[in-house]
Amino acid sequence: MIQGKMIYEGKAKQVFVTDDPTLAVIHYKDDATAFNGLKRGTVVGKGVVNNLVSNHLFKLLAGHGVESHFVEQLNDRDTLVHRVEIVPVEVIVRNIAAGSLSKRIGYPEGTKLRCTVLEYCYKDDDLGDPMINETHIAAMGLATPEEMATIAAMALKVNEVLTAYLMGLNLSLIDFKLEFGRFEGRILLADEISPDTCRFWDARTGEKLDKDRFRRDLGDVEEAYQEILNRLMGA
Ligand code: ADP
Ligand code: MG
Repeated sequence: MIQGKMIYEGKAKQVFVTDDPTLAVIHYKDDATAFNGLKRGTVVGKGVVNNLVSNHLFKLLAGHGVESHFVEQLNDRDTLVHRVEIVPVEVIVRNIAAGSLSKRIGYPEGTKLRCTVLEYCYKDDDLGDPMINETHIAAMGLATPEEMATIAAMALKVNEVLTAYLMGLNLSLIDFKLEFGRFEGRILLADEISPDTCRFWDARTGEKLDKDRFRRDLGDVEEAYQEILNRLMGA
């Protein structure tokens, strides 16, 4: 595999083509942004943590029948993946109210939800990733109803597997964001699953161990990312 030119530079990662059109390399950066790019900074070592954590969780999910883009970790910051056509819908899975949901429905952060909530956002930076529903998705042609049924079922399965696994590490999975892609006629889980894209709270103390430490200037940001890596890798 020969790595080619960069085809996309996002807020947290870079994507490179390879000599195989079905494969891409994802490079994880230490750059951190929040509030749709309004707040910018660096979290030293974040790229390494997010790469290793994502790959660890993708492998765990594969063992439970959830297919992802993960192919092979190349080094601490670079991973070979199936090059998918990203479905421009971000899927948010919520178990406990926090963040924007707490604001929207007036539930204090930490309020348990009676059932898992799925939210969809149109992946468009210029529009600020607005929340949409399944009829918008169909009306805009972002995905077919069949694709959305697959995506919703996969998202709930990911939630089931990760919630149980993380509880064993004394971590509460509050909520998380997933992206999916089309690949050879199938839907694959893509992008990343990391402290950038999940809310992880210590199950005993409620301490936040995720990107909210950066968003809200809570301090010990690097330490929180390392703590997640340590718990997952059993250090
Ligand atoms: P963003 O600023 O859009 O969140 P990131 O910094 O997260 O971008 O960079 C990763 C980009 O690569 C995202 O736009 C994501 O949708 C896309 N991506 C993730 N996995 C794959 C994949 N397997 N194939 C192609 N693109 C992918
Ligand atoms: Mg991203």
